[in-house]
Amino acid sequence: MESSPAHHGILCDPGSAAASNRHVSTAQISIFRGTGHPFGFSLLPLPDPGPGEVLVALDLSTICGSDLHTLTGRRHGPVPTILGHEGIGHVIAVGDGREPAWLGRRVSWSLVDSCGTCRPCTEWRLPQKCERLLKYGHAPLTEQGGLLGCYASHLMLRRGTHLVAVPDTLPDAAVAPANCALATMVAVMESLPHGTGRMAVIQGAASWDCTAARCCARPDARRCSWWIANRNG
Ligand SMILES: [Zn+2]
Ligand SMILES: [Zn+2]
Repeated sequence: MESSPAHHGILCDPGSAAASNRHVSTAQISIFRGTGHPFGFSLLPLPDPGPGEVLVALDLSTICGSDLHTLTGRRHGPVPTILGHEGIGHVIAVGDGREPAWLGRRVSWSLVDSCGTCRPCTEWRLPQKCERLLKYGHAPLTEQGGLLGCYASHLMLRRGTHLVAVPDTLPDAAVAPANCALATMVAVMESLPHGTGRMAVIQGAASWDCTAARCCARPDARRCSWWIANRNG
């Protein structure tokens, strides 16, 4: 099944991916087998979406710090796997139970798939702590055909994954990390007590930190001091 990397590798080309992926029968995937092992490239037959599922042709995927942690062995997960959870793409197929109006839409999605029925999902309102949680980019390749990471041409979103339509005016590179960096920082900001005259100290200068600075620059944030503690962060 292994093949040469005839097409894009980890990062999809935003100029060609969507157009070239609409009518193909196979998905191109990059395979992570563990720290120190080279990435593999392969083809998988494109599955039909099951109930509630959504098949997305990826336009662009970005590299998150957690992907790098997995790559370097600081974070452990199942292998083989398709890494990558930040992306943007177009819906090319939907399963029963999903609104057909999603077909063709440019979308982003929630970072994790959750069941919507367990205690964390309902009482705690913390779907990211779902008892049946699935994290895109951290799922075994064998599971459900395995199109569950963004370093591929296609991604199969599960029935508990939330979709968000993205307007054409927003560039791919700005939207792709929104489901991770932006979503995380919005959750952090919303957890802070309201008030004026507060100061925010942001340690680091990575994507999350830049996003935090943007959140602090909102009109209702009085002052933000950005402490760059790690210029290489
Ligand atoms: Zn991320
Ligand atoms: Zn749940």
